[in-house]
Amino acid sequence: MITGIAAADGVQPEQLTVPPLNGGVVRVFNSSIPLMHDMSVLGLLADTRVNIDVNHKKGECMPGIGSNANATGWRISFSFADSELAVAAPKPEPYDNPRHDGFVYCLTVSNGNFLARRTVEYSDNCKTQEVVDAAQKPFYTGNCQMGKQSMGTPGTALRYRTDNKTYRLQTGQTPVVRPPLHNEYGLDNFPNGMNAVVAVISYTGYDMDDAMILNKSAHERGFGHGTIYKTKICDLEEGGRRNRSGRTITKLFGFAPDSLVSADRKETLDEDGFPRIGTLLRHGDAIAAWHTVSYDAASDDYINRDANTQYFKYKEEEVAFVEEVRIIGSEDGTQPCQKISIKLRVPRSPVIGDKFSSRHGQKGVASQKWPSIDMPFSESGIQPDVIINPHAFPSRMTIGMFVESLAGKAGALHGIAQDSTPFRFDEQNTAVDFFGHQLMKAGYNYYGNEPMYSGITGQELAADIYIGVVYYQRLRHMVNDKYQVRTTGPINTTTGQPIKGRKKGGGIRVGEMERDALIAHGTAFLLQDRLMNCSDYTKAALCRECGSFLSTAPTVSEYSRKKDRGSNLTIRCRRCAKLADGVVSKSDVWMDGQGMRFTGGEDIAVVAVPGVLKYLDVELASMGVRLKFKVEP
Ligand SMILES: [Zn+2]
Repeated sequence: MITGIAAADGVQPEQLTVPPLNGGVVRVFNSSIPLMHDMSVLGLLADTRVNIDVNHKKGECMPGIGSNANATGWRISFSFADSELAVAAPKPEPYDNPRHDGFVYCLTVSNGNFLARRTVEYSDNCKTQEVVDAAQKPFYTGNCQMGKQSMGTPGTALRYRTDNKTYRLQTGQTPVVRPPLHNEYGLDNFPNGMNAVVAVISYTGYDMDDAMILNKSAHERGFGHGTIYKTKICDLEEGGRRNRSGRTITKLFGFAPDSLVSADRKETLDEDGFPRIGTLLRHGDAIAAWHTVSYDAASDDYINRDANTQYFKYKEEEVAFVEEVRIIGSEDGTQPCQKISIKLRVPRSPVIGDKFSSRHGQKGVASQKWPSIDMPFSESGIQPDVIINPHAFPSRMTIGMFVESLAGKAGALHGIAQDSTPFRFDEQNTAVDFFGHQLMKAGYNYYGNEPMYSGITGQELAADIYIGVVYYQRLRHMVNDKYQVRTTGPINTTTGQPIKGRKKGGGIRVGEMERDALIAHGTAFLLQDRLMNCSDYTKAALCRECGSFLSTAPTVSEYSRKKDRGSNLTIRCRRCAKLADGVVSKSDVWMDGQGMRFTGGEDIAVVAVPGVLKYLDVELASMGVRLKFKVEP
């Protein structure tokens, strides 16, 4: 019997101390099953073949798991085909998947923490069978996470769907390196990546950290080109009244009869007031026309009386094409159209800042679209589509990516698809030798290195460069959806500080840590700029005598002086002023809102403070605490 508990993604598996020898039962616990449609079964160690039988018991709890105790438990019994542990390079036959309820289970055979050459893993939608040879666990799970984020071919019925947001890759390719399941599942109908020629070289510095350089010509040939489909709904009844006996029609689509319509409105709209298919929409363009009507019993018709056409506008900043217009009618088809649905197509060619990833968890951000003439080239004139930095490898140990590069290159040279079935190679019979031999037969370097030349100087580079073909995915995190810019803009009315939120034109918080960093760098003016000028800069009147902020109210006075007129107002502190008696000369007297006469209280300073300081002053005052400010000079 095994006592350990294995768990899937997100929950750390307990280390199994004693390798089991004669099979047994391991219960796998996975709290994320309902979310994932799929379960990754972890467990099972030992260098031998295992037969697995999955038993799903809903509601069965693992003892002692604490907060997860109510999730679904899974019982997995297994037995070893060979009781000898010495069987070398076992074949777990990963395609004989234990299945259950239509789910695909994931079998992970691990020897401790390092899953090298022992893993078979399928993601929830089977998009990401990767080259599962030799990498650490985080990179398998990492890639399974990213497979879900990749732009691909999300379905076969795209034409008929009206999702709020759909990402689609226009130039998908079939991977050169793939497992047999790729064909079995018909994944060529759903491509979600492109075969890229990848050079591993530190070139110009634009590939530092996890940045990657794109070949501009590859980009122009369509590398990574994607589309987003969005659906907008124009509803005439929105917010309108709806009585019990049915709805009253007060608005209709279309231009009002005899109304004046400007030519630029007709540019995007057809005669019926609906957008023309294929029209390019810019910010502020009309996407539908409507007018008000009232029912006329005599003619049994809806009549427009104001000859005034109104419009739904396209509010996004990004340009889009009208893909499809759907008229949404009532169920019985007797009512006039009150709602339309417009499918928009937003082209998204890759730009600097967009995210890409190979199938090994090696994600990166495009940092430059480098002109083709400046890219390094090999002796045969091959240029990379993508350049990544060699430092991406030593710490992450994604050996699988090297293998894929090698296999992809050999496959492309020979025109064959490479099988990425894991566990086919071992120490005696290595992947390097297998693919190296293919490369050698094609006249290339056995290890995938090639002499390359600088595209800038034309000189041969000092080292041979590892270059090959790797399947790259474009992930759906795009700068166009994320960038945030603001100097000043909308503010919160109570605090006077900028509001949150990219959509609303808000700011990004400069918190304590950011403040500390700026202080540490000695950039005092930048700090002042962020915390005051671009935030809640206010001018406040302060009484030097009593040290209080003065809240001001304009007053009319019979003692008004010349300097009190126009914009040149004086602010006075009533608390520090004295009631005027008869002795005082008239020129010193002033009057408040109640008509009381005062003298003095004119020792006022106007200071620049953050608006919240005044707010704090007021909040504290409400609790009986007074802030006193000493202003100098
Ligand atoms: Zn005062």
